[in-house]
Amino acid sequence: MDERLIAENLGRSGSHLLFAGQDVPALAVQYGTPLYLMDEDCIRARCRTYRSAVEAFARPGRILYASKAAAFLQMFRIAAEEGLSADVVSAGELYTAYKAGFPMENVWFHSSNKTDEDIAFAMEHGVGLFIVDNFEELEAIERIASERGTRQRILLRLTPGIDPHTFDAVATGKVDSKFGFGMETGAADQAVRRALAAPHLLLGGFHCHVGSQVFDSDVFLRSASILFAFMAKVRSQYGYTADQLDLGGGYGVRYLAGDPIPDYAASIREIGAHIDALCQGFDYPAPEISLEPGRSIVGDAGLTVYTVGMVKRIPNVRNYVSVDGGMTDNIRYALYGAPYTVLPANRMDEASEMLCTVVGRCCESGDVIQPDVMLPDSTCRGDRIAVCTTGAYHYSMASNYNRLPRPPIVMLRGGTSYVAVRRESLDDLLQCDQ
Ligand SMILES: *Cc1c(COP(=O)(O)O)cnc(C)c1O
Repeated sequence: MDERLIAENLGRSGSHLLFAGQDVPALAVQYGTPLYLMDEDCIRARCRTYRSAVEAFARPGRILYASKAAAFLQMFRIAAEEGLSADVVSAGELYTAYKAGFPMENVWFHSSNKTDEDIAFAMEHGVGLFIVDNFEELEAIERIASERGTRQRILLRLTPGIDPHTFDAVATGKVDSKFGFGMETGAADQAVRRALAAPHLLLGGFHCHVGSQVFDSDVFLRSASILFAFMAKVRSQYGYTADQLDLGGGYGVRYLAGDPIPDYAASIREIGAHIDALCQGFDYPAPEISLEPGRSIVGDAGLTVYTVGMVKRIPNVRNYVSVDGGMTDNIRYALYGAPYTVLPANRMDEASEMLCTVVGRCCESGDVIQPDVMLPDSTCRGDRIAVCTTGAYHYSMASNYNRLPRPPIVMLRGGTSYVAVRRESLDDLLQCDQ
């Protein structure tokens, strides 16, 4: 067993890496590099796992694909076909969903700073609901709904004060957070009062999102407990019973062989049982529970393929292997030191004995894909390098720094492949220049 093959959709044939059963170096020849590959069968299987897990709840739940993980037309089409709803955080994501023909009543609008234009645009396009983050937004939605003569459904985003024991940079449920109404500060209570008093708002219930790259169900169970206690208090004080409870996203995926193998279905079953117990304990009618996975829908469905341009050996210091992409298609190591499994896609049969740092082609010393990687000593210009688990927060965080065109997204499905997002051309880079 080759422990570098960290996901079921990775394999090996002779010296070549396989992804979703297909030859990675051959795909690199066919489509060019840098190249984002996405395993559509894996994405669909993950969607089904999630959906069937929440459909088994006492009151069937809802899965929203957190589209910020990877937002492009075909991804919204796949999510819609698999019966998922979708989270968006901007007019751009919402417009992409709309253009993909996504049922807009199943699109929910997040973000900690929605402009008046965003709010009006989303209402015009029939957004399902807004997850309200702050008082300014509460007032803006009330005002815009009033101007439009409608009543807008909302959830309130609460901050339960839980540290999910992950990276600080992606821990959003703590008290010190730009997101949501603090529960300990009294802001949450005040938001409920204002929402209930607003004639053009319809309060559906509550939302919280505690963090990201979470492997432990405990985080979700604890936030559900805290939110139920709050909901019970709100019911006794204001006579308001919530119909919806959204526990956010955050399930982890494997970046390294040492990461746990997640069992999403088992964890969601635990959440379901816990919700049942809370409903009984508080004598509370079961709300519709929703979850918002992003990373765990697309993360390990993605693989990035590069071509090596140079190998620089600085004796007693470091070896650099430079690839034809970089922080423009993968900013995550530069941003928060994210770990990756890096594979020699055309030298899988050779021993990996060269300790090196894999860097990109951008004019930034911080343009590092991954330090301290082991690759074959024979690695040279023209070789293909694959970086695993790049389906989430790679394409969606990509930039044109140094005027590098963004790579295409090629979907792999049932042994075939097709382009879902074409490679940017040099002329695409000039499109907005006057
Ligand atoms: C980012 C985010 C998600 C998705 O998180 P993942 O870790 O990708 O599952 C879900 N909900 C909210 C509010 C988010 O900000």
